[in-house]
Amino acid sequence: MRIDLHTHSSRSDGTDSPAGLVEHAAAAGIDVVGLTDHDTLAGWDDAIRAAWRHGVGLVVGVEISCRLAGASVHMLAYLVDPTHPGLLAMLEWVRDARAARVPALLDRLRSYGMDLTMDDVAAHAPSTASVGRPHVADALVSAGYVADRQEAFERWLGEGRPAYVPHDAPEPTEVIRTVLSAGGVPVLAHPRGRKSRTVLTDQVVRQLTAAGMGGIEVDHHDHPPDVRAELRALAAELDLVVTGSSDYHGRGKVEHELGCHTTTEEEFARLLDRARTNAERAQRRVPEFIPPRR
Ligand code: AMP
Ligand code: ZN
Ligand code: FE
Ligand code: FE
Repeated sequence: MRIDLHTHSSRSDGTDSPAGLVEHAAAAGIDVVGLTDHDTLAGWDDAIRAAWRHGVGLVVGVEISCRLAGASVHMLAYLVDPTHPGLLAMLEWVRDARAARVPALLDRLRSYGMDLTMDDVAAHAPSTASVGRPHVADALVSAGYVADRQEAFERWLGEGRPAYVPHDAPEPTEVIRTVLSAGGVPVLAHPRGRKSRTVLTDQVVRQLTAAGMGGIEVDHHDHPPDVRAELRALAAELDLVVTGSSDYHGRGKVEHELGCHTTTEEEFARLLDRARTNAERAQRRVPEFIPPRR
C-alpha cells in the first residue's frame, strides 16, 4: 500500500483540481491520498466524488497555518467535522489574515521595482479562497521577474527575504484544541522544515503532544536523514503517529511528486484509530476514510 497523506489542490496553492489530483494519484499507483489544502475544506466534495470514481483511498484533511514565536508553523488536521462552527471560523479568520497582508507584500515588491497589482495576484488564484504567497510568486513569474515559484521564494518572498510579510494566525495549541473539538487528529507538518525548525524544539513538540496532538510528519522533503532519525526517536518517546508524505503541489513545487514519501500501513492504522477515538470523545460526526477499491 502506498499512502501519501499531505497534498494540495487548486483550492489552495496546488495546480491540480481536487478531482484531477485524485485521478493523478490513481495513475501514480497511490492507494491512499490525503487532501490537505491550506486553511480550506473547499476541495473535499470534488475529491470525495473522484475517490469513489477512481477507487483511490481518500483521507480528507486541511493544513492549518499557525504562528509560534514569530515563525510560521503548519498543523495538519485529519477527518475533522466540516460543520464545526469553531473550526470554520478559525479557517476563515486565517484565510483572511493570509490574504490581508498581500497588499503590504506588493508594496515591498514595488519598492524593489516590481509592479504587481492585486488583480495580477487574483488572476493566479482563480479557484481558491486561500490566497497567499504562492499566488504572488506565480504573478512574479508571469511578469517575468523570476523564473519559477522557487526563485520567487528564495529571492523575495521566503521568511527573512526582502518582501516577506508575516500574517496573523492562531497558536498551534489553539489549533489543536479546535481540531480535537471538531473530532479530528492534529498532526504536526514538516516540523523541521525552513524557519519552523527554530521554534519547534523537542520541548515544544512535547507540549503540543500534551495538548492532544496525535502525530508528526517525519518523512518529508524538507527533512534530511539525520533530522528524520531524531524525529522518529521523539515520536517513539511521545507515542506519536509517524507520517510521511509528498506535500504535492502539482506544478507548484518541484521535488514533491506524489508518493515521493509515504506513510506505513501500520502508522496509518494508528492514525485511523486515533481519529475514531477523537470523534467519539468530541461526539462529532466526522467524515469517514474512503478505502481504496483494488
Ligand atoms: P503563506 O501562507 O501565504 O505565507 O504561504 C506559505 C506557502 O508558500 C507554503 O504553504 C508553501 O506552500 C509555499 N512556500 C513556502 N516556501 C516556499 C518555497 N521556498 N518554495 C515554494 N513554495 C513555498
Ligand atoms: Zn502550499
Ligand atoms: Fe506546509
Ligand atoms: Fe503543505
